[in-house]
Amino acid sequence: MFEKVLIANRGEIALRIHRACKEMGIATVAVHSTADADAMHVRLADESVCVGPPAPKDSYLNIPAIISAAEITGADAIHPGYGFLSENARFAEIVSAHDITFIGPTAEHIRVMGDKIAAKDAVGKAGIPLVPGSDGEIRDMDEARKWANEIGFPVLVKAASGGGGRGMKLAKTAADLEEAVSTAKSESKAAFGDDAVYLEKYLTIPRHIEIQVIADSHGNVVQLGERDCSLQRRHQKVLEEALSPALDSEARANIGETVRSAVEKLGYLGAGTVEFLYENNEFYFIEMNTRLQVEHPITEQVTDIDLVREQIRVAAGIELSVKQEDVTFKGHAIECRVNAEDPRTFTPSPGKILDFHAPGGPGVRFDSAVYTGYTIPPYYDSMIGKLIVFADNRELCISRLKRSLEEFAMTGVKTTVPLFQELVENEDFLAGDYNIHWLENWLAE
Ligand code: ADP
Repeated sequence: MFEKVLIANRGEIALRIHRACKEMGIATVAVHSTADADAMHVRLADESVCVGPPAPKDSYLNIPAIISAAEITGADAIHPGYGFLSENARFAEIVSAHDITFIGPTAEHIRVMGDKIAAKDAVGKAGIPLVPGSDGEIRDMDEARKWANEIGFPVLVKAASGGGGRGMKLAKTAADLEEAVSTAKSESKAAFGDDAVYLEKYLTIPRHIEIQVIADSHGNVVQLGERDCSLQRRHQKVLEEALSPALDSEARANIGETVRSAVEKLGYLGAGTVEFLYENNEFYFIEMNTRLQVEHPITEQVTDIDLVREQIRVAAGIELSVKQEDVTFKGHAIECRVNAEDPRTFTPSPGKILDFHAPGGPGVRFDSAVYTGYTIPPYYDSMIGKLIVFADNRELCISRLKRSLEEFAMTGVKTTVPLFQELVENEDFLAGDYNIHWLENWLAE
């Protein structure tokens, strides 16, 4: 097992990884920007190294500085968390080249899954159902028109390198196609340095359902059920549930096994998430994330498996602590992403937290790195915590969520808690009756 792990991240996820390490008897090294010198992950880690100024490109994305920090402190592994360098195949290679273990999949798998066209090809061959779409990249407008007519409008133009909901453009009819292709291309070129795009059938009322997997280097691949992440704003998840209120146990077992066996065929190592759109009882693959996800705690709660601990074990060459037949699902879990934002306009609200009280009690977990007196810097994303609640069933879970939201208190900055308080009173939400567009329509009302 590793003796010392460097955590190449910040905020709640840096703390989450630190906690798993400490429970495993592993020392931790925090890296931080000058803006994060007072951050909780820095205070709690055994050692810390400043890796640069506030801008992410100069600090949390600064590969030479992070590698130097690992070498100076003698860390034998690096956990990248999510975001930042977590899906950078080159970083994974550089880490390995310095005889440090990258806690994550192989660089090869990161690279394939990071290119959505290559990913669709690979998982399709492994038996995963795909969204109908172009057979690879669209090279010119003739090709775009040919594929769009074959798939049928509406179609979605998507960037091969896309992420975070960027580089995606809808063409409702043939008249919109040319503009959708050119804006998707230029947006993707600007954001990701790559203008390759492809076409997909636009599903009109799908849910977003994703399957968590984890694999070790001894041939064990385990699927840990699904998360329903349909409540989104601008293609970004806002509230997630495990398990999905839309699947029965037969559908769950079928898609779970399809994914498990495909991931086994791919020879994948580590934690990953296979994301689908789900419409009319059919699953359509959209992408695979080769990292830990923000919403991983709801899976941990319903399976009673510590995903970060398992990630560290498999990276160290140890077997997973569970076999597929040991995995059972118990109760229901919901996660709310609490952001320091205006709950109506979603304008970021950085600043100093004057007073703060976190919810607690039975079945409540608040994963966060903020504290009273902490100043939320303006340089990073606005998520300040994840409120995770779990109970024996969905109804009890929602009651618990309501009372947890009432307990939450923060002054000095605005938060999105009032939005969740309204959401948990909504009949469609209570009935579990929503799709990926529902939240935006509700907000528009
Ligand atoms: P990103 O990597 O940018 O997050 P994804 O491919 O994961 O992109 O898609 C993000 C979200 O965009 C999905 O959860 C869904 O809301 C929407 N989306 C993606 N593909 C389609 C599609 N073919 N039809 C309808 N909506 C889609």
